[in-house]
Amino acid sequence: MLAASGYPAGGEVLADDRLEHFDFTHHPCLGLDCDPPYSAVGGEQSMNRWAIDELKQQIPLLDYLEAHDWRPVRRLSRSRWMGLCPLHNDHKPSFLVDPGKSLFYCYGCGRGGDVIRFAELYHQVKFPQALTLLRQWRGLAPLLHEAAGFYGIQLQRYGEAVAYLQQRGFRSPELFEHMRIGYAPGGGCLRRWLTQLGYPFPALRQAGLVTAIGYDAYSHRIVFPLEGNLYGRSLSVSAPPHRFLPGTKGGLYAWERVRHYPEVILVEGLFDYAVLWQAGFHNVTCSMGNHLNTCQLRQLCDGTRTVYLTFDADSNGSGRQAAQGLACRLRKQGLNARRVSLPQGHDPNSFFVQGGDAQQFQCLLEEARV
Ligand SMILES: [Zn+2]
Repeated sequence: MLAASGYPAGGEVLADDRLEHFDFTHHPCLGLDCDPPYSAVGGEQSMNRWAIDELKQQIPLLDYLEAHDWRPVRRLSRSRWMGLCPLHNDHKPSFLVDPGKSLFYCYGCGRGGDVIRFAELYHQVKFPQALTLLRQWRGLAPLLHEAAGFYGIQLQRYGEAVAYLQQRGFRSPELFEHMRIGYAPGGGCLRRWLTQLGYPFPALRQAGLVTAIGYDAYSHRIVFPLEGNLYGRSLSVSAPPHRFLPGTKGGLYAWERVRHYPEVILVEGLFDYAVLWQAGFHNVTCSMGNHLNTCQLRQLCDGTRTVYLTFDADSNGSGRQAAQGLACRLRKQGLNARRVSLPQGHDPNSFFVQGGDAQQFQCLLEEARV
């Protein structure tokens, strides 16, 4: 009944069938025929179901998808959307989302369900862990969104921050918008802003945004919002250069926008990412360090592609070693991995800042070694 790839003709009717189907069996664990994974004793069961329904109501599927960089490509009737499937290596939009019902269905991989089912499949976790992830996300996402918005407003007010970014090669307004770059001026202004918005101080502390005395943990840092975290680069040479919130740094940067490219450039820093993106290499992603976590590795390996490893050519050789090790791992997974050699002592950022251009970088890609 389903086309092997993409959606069948008359898909709208079928889409309804599929979504109606998932309306009733939106999660195998919530179906009427099987035992729930949690205690099913009397009131506790209905309590759990109530809590799960509430969680689903609080996290609209479309919000969650968009926070994970999913973008709708085509609008269907009744405000439903089609886009690339985040769960398999999709080349034409086969992922249907009904924001009204908060349900999805993919015509490519045949999977569908609600936001809990999506979290299970996307993060490859079991039902209870998916609930935990969603609860954490529910608490943290609005807070990080507000903090990033606050930092974004501050950036233009602080000449030293803008000057620093210019010196690091950040020029185009599109880049600032694309990366949602901000600045943390420090002191107690973030705390004041967020508590005015109604966030209690302990929530800010727990997220790691402020210190015990209420000072901004990202003081005097350029701030880049990530999926479920913030990266802060210090302007001061006396402070540690890199800062993340406690917890995982998350997946590859902007992966949902990159994963459909057959050739992907991987860099280790967001400043490298920025200059490449600005030079027109929109197939670039970033692992924020030269050691990839399991989530990032899984993302890179979710389809057949060529990965250009463009780590720093630092004098101690750590970038080169990391690239060699990673190239080996990727090849074992059936990927085509190539190592890009930058001039000694350079990273992609310094290469561009010191006069390298897109054409020269393209030559480096073409010369990349297996
Ligand atoms: Zn799919």
